[in-house]
Amino acid sequence: MVNVNSKELHHAEQSTQAKRQNVSILGATGTIGLQTLDVIARHPERFSVFALTANTKVESLFDLCMKFTPRYAVMLVESAANELSDKLKTAGSTTQVLFGEEALSEVAAHPEVGIVMAAIVGAAGLHSAIAAARAGKRILLANKETLVMAGSLFMQAVAEGGATLLPIDSEHNAIFQVMPQTRGKPLSDAGVTRILLTASGGPFRNATLEELNFVTRAQALNHPNWVMGPKITIDSATMMNKGLEVIEAHWLFDATAAQIEVVVHPQSVIHSMVEYNDGSVLAQLGNPDMRTPIAYGLAYPDRLESGVSRLDFLKIGQLDFAAPDYARFPCLRLAYEALDKGGTAPAILNAANEVAVEAFLANEIRFMDIPAVIEAVLATSSIDTVASIAQLVSVDAAARVQAKSIMSVLKSTH
Ligand code: NAD
Ligand code: MG
Repeated sequence: MVNVNSKELHHAEQSTQAKRQNVSILGATGTIGLQTLDVIARHPERFSVFALTANTKVESLFDLCMKFTPRYAVMLVESAANELSDKLKTAGSTTQVLFGEEALSEVAAHPEVGIVMAAIVGAAGLHSAIAAARAGKRILLANKETLVMAGSLFMQAVAEGGATLLPIDSEHNAIFQVMPQTRGKPLSDAGVTRILLTASGGPFRNATLEELNFVTRAQALNHPNWVMGPKITIDSATMMNKGLEVIEAHWLFDATAAQIEVVVHPQSVIHSMVEYNDGSVLAQLGNPDMRTPIAYGLAYPDRLESGVSRLDFLKIGQLDFAAPDYARFPCLRLAYEALDKGGTAPAILNAANEVAVEAFLANEIRFMDIPAVIEAVLATSSIDTVASIAQLVSVDAAARVQAKSIMSVLKSTH
């Protein structure tokens, strides 16, 4: 048995303390935020929660603050922040409550923070993700909309800020794990021929075009393999999620649209693959559980126990593959087209999609109206070269107005 004296123990404790990293979780009350906290709770010696943020859910953020005692809690809306602050004070908590979009950026860029989990949904996550990039943080990027909307500027901010960008989207995390580190060098120089982006196909993989016209909100929210927030679940049902991921892969891995191929793989066991010129195909596999990519991002280049159950090949038995159907899933085609057009086109696609998905979730438009709205917005918007974040914010706002006006015509014809 090893004998450790108390002085050595004290030193060991100090060095563990020194290694403990402060983490800010943007979008802490969401599906990804909660799974991040689940992984962190398994490793209190490695991570300490510095800030937790939420949009409006006071109760959820209160519970998380009591459990993880962050230094800061941020709510988007002032009234929600006041309510949270009162509750925390009454409960004897020392967590300071801030509010507003700037506070999100502050906790993302705070000098004492090492790791930022960017898990806000939609374009609302853009500013705080950019702030983390500029401040040179380790960014665990779940918010794919940031890359779709502002890929060039975000990647530039990452490079200039000296940030470490680790993709959390399961496909991109898989690709990252099996891709040689080639930033700044063409993929072909590293012998990479293709990225094979796997897609579950969502709940309507086998539905006919006719059936797709009449699917309900509840059916669309019922994803076969993954438990996710409502927006990304609808994106998975329309396959816009895969379209956004094609654009995400383009920016993360310097890949052209022609180098990214979508393969429908209903079991969601292979999270994506990279094909090399010698015929090798490297894949990352695992159970569909986001705690794997989250743990990978938190510990990189180490590995961490994540709580994910082991993959049992004998239980799975079989893996299937099919080509995507662009006729039934026009959102995927629209995303490829937006990537091809470049400039502000992906930002317009993203904004129109967010508005259409919200309207579908509110039962205001039908499922197949989602691609129709996006296509109409893209067709009627001018596409410019990307110049600044401010420009993208106004492009996003204009596309939302345009989508709403197209939807009001649609609604009146239903
Ligand atoms: P979610 O809806 O469950 O959670 C969203 C979080 O963002 C919540 O904490 C909410 O409070 C916060 N939020 C919402 N609107 C906000 C606003 N305007 N300002 C500030 N905060 C706001 O979503 P999710 O499923 O956790 O997804 C989060 C992001 O991760 C999305 O971009 C999604 O595409 C991506 N992602 C999710 C999964 C998954 O398995 N859930 C997988 C891959 C990628
Ligand atoms: Mg994904």
